[in-house]
Amino acid sequence: MAGLATQAFDSLPPHQKSFLRSLPKAELHAHLNGCIPLDCLIKLALDASKSDGPQPPLVREALQILKAGLNLNRIEDGFKLFPAIYHITSTPKAIALATSAVLDFFLEPTSPGVPPQCVYMELRTTPRSTPHMSRKEYLSVVLGEVVKRGGKASLIVSIDRRMSPQDVAECISLAIHFRNSGQPIVGIDLCGNPLSGNMKAFHTLMDAARDAQLPLTAHIAESERNTAQDTAEILSWSPRRLGHATFLDADAVLKVSREKIPIEICLSSNLVSKTVESLSAHHLRSWLELGHPVIICTDDTLLFKTNLVAEYALLLARPPLGLGFEEEEIRRIAQMGFRYRFHESRKTWNAVQKIARFKN
Ligand SMILES: [Zn+2]
Repeated sequence: MAGLATQAFDSLPPHQKSFLRSLPKAELHAHLNGCIPLDCLIKLALDASKSDGPQPPLVREALQILKAGLNLNRIEDGFKLFPAIYHITSTPKAIALATSAVLDFFLEPTSPGVPPQCVYMELRTTPRSTPHMSRKEYLSVVLGEVVKRGGKASLIVSIDRRMSPQDVAECISLAIHFRNSGQPIVGIDLCGNPLSGNMKAFHTLMDAARDAQLPLTAHIAESERNTAQDTAEILSWSPRRLGHATFLDADAVLKVSREKIPIEICLSSNLVSKTVESLSAHHLRSWLELGHPVIICTDDTLLFKTNLVAEYALLLARPPLGLGFEEEEIRRIAQMGFRYRFHESRKTWNAVQKIARFKN
């Protein structure tokens, strides 16, 4: 069965489909390992099984799901896949191919005459050390692919909530190192299981990232069980964007709206993960009514069977398949993706680097 967003897209008349396809869009919240196109993942899985011999049970199970054809109407199937995806993309060659396929998926035309899903993207990934590469090598390989897309793509370095402060320190210092070498790293992300980790332990490190002019986007209040203290701690890091922000408490809503911190909205992700009951109950509408900045994003296209055009179709399609917004409002929403990207800071940093090299 097609994803919810694809159903919304399929319900549109041809002129509205072409409106959405040609609308300039920016993707600011997409995780590398959750967005690998299925055909690429299957090919990499076959390559890995040929060379690596016996697979761990979790990987074997996920490979069986892959071979049988993915059915991710159950979110647990998606979570089961992640250890396998990490295993499959554990070599420099595999992560390079996966990154390239994800960038193609978003930034290249799907067929002749059809515009790409978006004209700019900020891809995010957590640097992983594997038996085949260090975190530094991982980032270097991913950046090698991002850089080939010129100004169309940038990278955000993700910090997983489960990491130790030492690992977080390593990831942030790598992000600073590569950014200072002129690589297109534009920010830091906080992600991972929303109920794991003690965010107070990251406070000084997040301050350090901000001091190094790496803006922060943070997954926040994703679960009903996230505490007000957890949310307040993350907001104390002065994030420049927020991911999901589904269960903000009253104090947090006040702060976020007063400071107009843009919210990355991932409709299919929230619906499939069942953190939001229905499209009509989604917090997107109440933020828009406040005149608050929002950005429409996909999160994990592989798991949620979606793409950026289809996510916009959820705005345009008539209820119950979509929210029934007018084209003019959707055009205005799409512009916010460009206004709130971290890309502009990249230009400033490049200029700073050029001057620094001249002084030296
Ligand atoms: Zn996310």
